[in-house]
Amino acid sequence: MFAIAEAMNAEYKAIVDAGFLLQIDDPDLPDGWNCLPDITLPEYRTYAALRIDALNHALRDIPKEKIRLHVCWGSFHGPHHDDVPLKDIIDLIFRVRAGSYSIEASNPCHEHEWRVFENVKLPEGATLIPGVVGHCTDFIEHPDLVAERLMRYANLVGRENVLAGTDCGLGTRVGHPSICWAKFEALAKARGAQRKFCGDAPKRRGGAHRGVCLSEGSTRRRNMRKTWLIAAALAGLGASPIAAEQPNQPVEPPASGSTSSELSRSGGVIKPPADVDPQMKQTPPSSGDRMPVIPPPGTAGGNSSVKPK
Ligand SMILES: [Zn+2]
Repeated sequence: MFAIAEAMNAEYKAIVDAGFLLQIDDPDLPDGWNCLPDITLPEYRTYAALRIDALNHALRDIPKEKIRLHVCWGSFHGPHHDDVPLKDIIDLIFRVRAGSYSIEASNPCHEHEWRVFENVKLPEGATLIPGVVGHCTDFIEHPDLVAERLMRYANLVGRENVLAGTDCGLGTRVGHPSICWAKFEALAKARGAQRKFCGDAPKRRGGAHRGVCLSEGSTRRRNMRKTWLIAAALAGLGASPIAAEQPNQPVEPPASGSTSSELSRSGGVIKPPADVDPQMKQTPPSSGDRMPVIPPPGTAGGNSSVKPK
């Protein structure tokens, strides 16, 4: 395992040296639990810790701020009732040497786990990226709901330490690319909802503005930028999380020549490519009178060369 880590170190370095942020995509850290049904929780934690130590060996000389860890519970559309609880692995997640942590947080099995952060501190200098829109449904999350989700985290870990994200890659899991863009639009509109609840910036020292928006941590850091960060984690669409917004200040367009410059931006939101219809007015492709169905192997019309198991 550590020999693989040694080899991966060269791969990871090449990615970062090329100017990219390195995202370690690790659904297996939570989801390995479901794949090992006979294991106890302490045994699983030992199993996972060894693999994290190997991962950290691979990441050992890469600046933390260049590393983002993404964890989800596999994101398959299933019951998820046996997922390992976040509280039982959050210390393992934070054991990974990373500067930011993207964690699935907006579906019926995991949304309630924001309360874990009532008892768990974010590592010093780290950024938390909770999923505040998700892949589990084609429903578009209401911006007020997105804002409420963000504020739960902001109040616990400090607003300057929260970046909005998606639960996981959306692209192949929701019904149409336009739904992805509409979910990102809900992220952007959540800024307005956040202002409605909180005002543009907390004003009072030592307490919350209108009672909800400032944690102790963020009060201590009141001289830091009071920035409400919105990012669309575009995993699955081939784009990078981007778009930080400081209230009442225009977002600078990306430097010419960057990957992002290929997309036009306004108001802190990356515009969808021209061939994507964010308003979902596109007519679905015609499939004739009925949906095409491929008969299963072994049945009339099916592939006779394939023997079903
Ligand atoms: Zn994921």
